[in-house]
Amino acid sequence: MHLARQGHRVVVVDRASFPSDSVSTHYIHQAGLLRLKEWGLLDEIIAAKTPPLRKMHYGYRGIELNGFADPVDGVDAVYCPRRTVLDEILVNAARRAGAEVVENFTVTDVVVSDGRVTGIRGREGDGPERELRATIVVGADGFHSTVAKKVGAELYNVRPAAGFIYYSYYTGLESWGLHHKNGMNEKWFGTWPTNDGLTMVATICTKRYLKEFRQDVETNFQAVIDDVSPEMGEQFRDMGRRAEDFRPMRYPDNYYRRAYGPGWALVGDAGYHKDPYTGWGITDSFLHGELLAERIHQGLAGERPMEEALAEYNKLRDEESAGVYDFTTTLGELTELPPFFKATMSAMSKSQEWTNKMLGLIGGVVPDYEIYAPDALERLYDDAGVPQDERIYDPAA
Ligand SMILES: Cc1cc2nc3c(=O)[nH]c(=O)nc-3n(C[C@H](O)[C@H](O)[C@H](O)COP(=O)(O)OP(=O)(O)OC[C@H]3O[C@@H](n4cnc5c(N)ncnc54)[C@H](O)[C@@H]3O)c2cc1C
Repeated sequence: MHLARQGHRVVVVDRASFPSDSVSTHYIHQAGLLRLKEWGLLDEIIAAKTPPLRKMHYGYRGIELNGFADPVDGVDAVYCPRRTVLDEILVNAARRAGAEVVENFTVTDVVVSDGRVTGIRGREGDGPERELRATIVVGADGFHSTVAKKVGAELYNVRPAAGFIYYSYYTGLESWGLHHKNGMNEKWFGTWPTNDGLTMVATICTKRYLKEFRQDVETNFQAVIDDVSPEMGEQFRDMGRRAEDFRPMRYPDNYYRRAYGPGWALVGDAGYHKDPYTGWGITDSFLHGELLAERIHQGLAGERPMEEALAEYNKLRDEESAGVYDFTTTLGELTELPPFFKATMSAMSKSQEWTNKMLGLIGGVVPDYEIYAPDALERLYDDAGVPQDERIYDPAA
């Protein structure tokens, strides 16, 4: 969409046809919604009757953060559109911008000439194999990326996946709103109202529970909610009615992949994937898609060498996502919070102002220095009345 809007000739191929469902829950942070708004697409999410959410309930082993971030640039709610809704809006926007979109086209290989990627090979449905030639091939094909495999993009900063997820859609839970709750036993559940009057409910547990969980999914799904919040577990048993099959996933390890090379680049999960615990994958894909498109435009327009522009994309992607990656992989372990997070989040939970600030930081619209700069930390601890000997200042503590 971005490149087509700038007048470049773009072909988008996807093995799916749209509307298409992906194994993914649907939470989009304010930072991602701001990108959709800027691109003129947020109104389409709203027009699809995606429920607006204006209260968040985050719980970390007894620490409760209940509130909402201050509105930014008119974004005063968050949304969880189903992927059938979101992906179709994005694909249509690319088409409207002038990109040629070919659905049901599976990429099987990249075309290489003189050490440089010069296109893709694949087929539409059961049709004959075709080659499409391009100045640059972008692999936006998710964590099983064929493009990444074929170009041999190396992995780095890999951290083992901690858990597995099961989720489904329920009626009867409209009054719940958005919850994101960690229990004491490496178990978590989340709830998000989505389209068609349904509430998506997900559980994550660490891998040691997988074998037992699989044996009776319905019972164990209920048991996780009971374990994390007995009160909500009771409501779930009484009011929740499952409307669709469970979607399970044991997700891959967290990783970064080299994001570019001669004639190719990677974006989204193809180049950088992390635990779904913090729900940052879609937002990061938006941010990095835009970042990459700007750099490709600079290269195609001859403003600077493509290689240099793509190297900058790789560097900025890694720098800008480092905090989220660290936060996600740490909290995704579902174990005891590290002392620094425990001390600061516990202090934040004692005031609405600090709670809302933290929810803004989680949503990517409050810079981290507003909470974690030394003078801000001091103010936080003062406001919460934390005794001097319980104040922790070192994130590595
Ligand atoms: C269980 C789970 C829950 C999640 N929950 C959230 C959440 O709440 N919020 C959030 O922000 N993120 C969440 N994520 C992460 C999020 O789903 C991903 O980060 C995001 O979808 C990445 O987008 P993408 O476009 O890079 O890849 P994908 O969404 O995976 O899209 C890849 C596309 O490539 C196509 N494709 C793949 N291979 C080929 C091929 N060979 N040829 C042609 N086409 C191909 C696919 O059909 C697909 O359309 C979750 C992930 C999981 C696994």
